[in-house]
Amino acid sequence: MNKGLKALETKVLDRGQCAACGACLSLCPYLCSWKGRIVKLHDCDLSEGRCFSFCPRTEVDLDTLHQFIFGKSYEKIEAGPVRKVLMARAVAPAFKERAQNGGVISALIDLALGEGIIQAAILTERNTDLLPQGRIAKSREQVVSCAGSSYVAGYTLEALNRGPWEGEERIGVVGLPCQVLALARMKASSQKKRTPVDRVDLVVGVFCTWALDYQPFMGFLKERFGDRPISKLDVTPPPERLLHVKVGEELHRVPLDEVRPFIRPSCQACLDMTGELSDISVGTVEGAEGWNTVLVRTPKGEELIRLAGAKGALETRKYPEDIWAHLKEASILKKRRALSALKELQESDLPLSKKVIDKIFKEVAP
Ligand SMILES: Cc1cc2nc3c(=O)[nH]c(=O)nc-3n(C[C@H](O)[C@H](O)[C@H](O)COP(=O)(O)OP(=O)(O)OC[C@H]3O[C@@H](n4cnc5c(N)ncnc54)[C@H](O)[C@@H]3O)c2cc1C
Repeated sequence: MNKGLKALETKVLDRGQCAACGACLSLCPYLCSWKGRIVKLHDCDLSEGRCFSFCPRTEVDLDTLHQFIFGKSYEKIEAGPVRKVLMARAVAPAFKERAQNGGVISALIDLALGEGIIQAAILTERNTDLLPQGRIAKSREQVVSCAGSSYVAGYTLEALNRGPWEGEERIGVVGLPCQVLALARMKASSQKKRTPVDRVDLVVGVFCTWALDYQPFMGFLKERFGDRPISKLDVTPPPERLLHVKVGEELHRVPLDEVRPFIRPSCQACLDMTGELSDISVGTVEGAEGWNTVLVRTPKGEELIRLAGAKGALETRKYPEDIWAHLKEASILKKRRALSALKELQESDLPLSKKVIDKIFKEVAP
């Protein structure tokens, strides 16, 4: 079976299954990005390629990946492996002002840079036309300029592949669940030579239920708001379910149902809401504006959270049991929806091993 660009094209790109994570970019001259899409420029005859093996939407055995990252097989299926769950928010005003929610991601990356745990971080920056791009951040100023969420899928991991790197830096990566999965695949891959992935020492997962497809979503915004610049987008949690669009100083409330048609088709087949293959995952907290949910998954993640408390970078609170139960339910719901979308793909094209599908199904089936 071909496991190169040919297969990536037929199984992923042509079927609208690309997540635009960026893991396949800047590795070979035949793939490039264009307005939220990954475009093939030329045929490639290689029977195995990094583009295919790093892709979060090609066949993957989650058991093997979990063994690689956590040293045990895929077990905690609800929201992935969790050592600790807490509520937190950044203390420094610089992060609170610019951040999407409590500024925990920015504060943790800033702390990791300041303490020398990492020397660079791969973050995502929104340019003026709202298309997110990966960026290498090495200073607080650069971290702050990447704060905030872009609800459009961008090619964050391209920045990791592209560099430039001096060759010694330890790297942190902040990514959506698809990006965190791609990163885990890169780390576990026998084809990772000449990539900097072995120097990635910290992975922060961003919760994500879905991301938007750049071009159709931009068409919608243009029709609604003309050419006026959008300063912030925010998705409010249930029961409100609105997309807040800040146009200059005006706030517009758009029902999420109007935005759903622009969700990337590949998000429908994604099983992961919380970035399960990371050291720490961060999202919003239902009903607590300005706070973050923090899921600590690895000893490295636990140490960083301890340090953040000790250095006064984060303020933390106990996580309410009922909200934790809701969060796990939402995560399971995403897996259920993805399983039915995956079932619609032919069995031989399932992007997960049958063994793993059966295992997930056993735990999350209604
Ligand atoms: C597409 C998307 C969907 C989301 N869906 C949910 C959800 O369903 N439930 C939930 O609880 N939270 C969701 N979030 C997460 C939420 O919006 C916040 O990012 C999170 O709570 C962290 O807040 P913060 O204040 O700590 O982040 P900040 O300190 O503001 O840092 C945000 C970080 O996110 C990174 N980032 C921004 N946009 C992207 C992007 N498109 N791709 C990759 N990285 C990006 C930036 O590099 C930045 O470092 C989503 C975020 C995104 C981008």
